[in-house]
Amino acid sequence: MSIIVQKYGGSSVATAELIRKVAARVVATHAAGHQVVAVVSAMGKSTDGLLELARSVSQNPERRELDMLVTVGERISMALLSMAITDLGYPAVSFTGSQSGIITTDNHTNARIIRVTPMRLMEALDAGRIVIVAGFQGVSERLEITSLGRGGSDTTAVALGAALGAEYVEICSDVDGVYSADPRVVPAARRIDDLDHDEMQELADAGAKVLNAEAVEWARRNGVEIVCSATHGEARPGTRIRDIGGTAQPRVAAVTAHPGIFYLEPGHPGAPAPVDLESTLVAHGAPDAWVWRLPGAWAAVVPRQNIHSDAAFRAALAGTGDVCVREDLELVTVVGRALASSPGLLLPATAALEAAGVRLHGRLLNAGRAGFLVQAGQSAAAVRALHHALIEGAA
Ligand code: ADP
Ligand code: ASP
Ligand code: MG
Repeated sequence: MSIIVQKYGGSSVATAELIRKVAARVVATHAAGHQVVAVVSAMGKSTDGLLELARSVSQNPERRELDMLVTVGERISMALLSMAITDLGYPAVSFTGSQSGIITTDNHTNARIIRVTPMRLMEALDAGRIVIVAGFQGVSERLEITSLGRGGSDTTAVALGAALGAEYVEICSDVDGVYSADPRVVPAARRIDDLDHDEMQELADAGAKVLNAEAVEWARRNGVEIVCSATHGEARPGTRIRDIGGTAQPRVAAVTAHPGIFYLEPGHPGAPAPVDLESTLVAHGAPDAWVWRLPGAWAAVVPRQNIHSDAAFRAALAGTGDVCVREDLELVTVVGRALASSPGLLLPATAALEAAGVRLHGRLLNAGRAGFLVQAGQSAAAVRALHHALIEGAA
């Protein structure tokens, strides 16, 4: 019997009624003859609510205590989903990340999964039960409760899928797949049927929220197939993300914008990068920063979303060397295959940005992605212009 891991995000379990609908969807997969592990996020935007609550009692809450607080959100969802499934007449049991054997580093609020020992889950599956797991959390070797960084329930699902030898991991959300751009920003975006792990990794690293970047990294390293589907609404096959092999043609697959960045550059022309730049980035919650080191020049794009404290981050950088921290830029990225060796693919980009009135501050290019630094507030216009010129225009 095959194991399927499904992950239901916050919007999928936002209300009691939606939780009952998710219960029916999980039961349908179980009734089709699969063993099912359902990973859940906190209801709706309740993680944001918990973080606001923390800030209303303390300007600088302890990160350990933040983890004790935010992991409660997923615990509520898991218990409710388990109850709703039991109510439908099927045996279910819920587990926290710690009970599921998700062992992490002790880097509170942004921990990384080290290994997964899902013994209790396997016992429950073997006993014929549907297993519900609280996403976004684990336990450190010192038995401290940890959380995995925003969007971390995707990583829980993929890491469990790898440990359990699942047939695939289904990421269920309010979109029925991965699109050529965020459909909320570009109504003409198209659904992509198949993506390889490398392309999806670039897209997630570049800020496409539909999948968490660390989850894709786990899937790539462990050969886990991911299917992105809609939770509610008409059932149709979702986007499949897997190893497609080396024969794929060069292409532009998608355009995305980062939800928020710091851009670092030399404080004066020729100023060297701080020697401990990477360790400073890791220490402040940005292990996923992109650092370019070129002869005589360097730059870094730092995603803001998991930076623990903006003020502490700026102060640490000021202490490491002559660094200019810019907060007036946004990053828009074109993701694809063989972009650096197929310059024709990107040829219309600069003219399209200019025609849309977007101020371009710089370009960063590697094989799988081309980054465009634009003025803050212009990223949505830039995404639409690039999508129109490189994807709609190329059809
Ligand atoms: P969940 O809460 O279920 O984890 P998320 O909100 O994290 O769901 O991710 C789904 C959202 O990702 C969609 O509502 C969509 O607006 C956004 N998104 C961004 N880029 C893309 C893309 N390229 N394809 C599909 N959805 C995208
Ligand atoms: N609830 C967490 C968040 O809002 C984790 C997740 O949804 O994946 O970031
Ligand atoms: Mg998400």
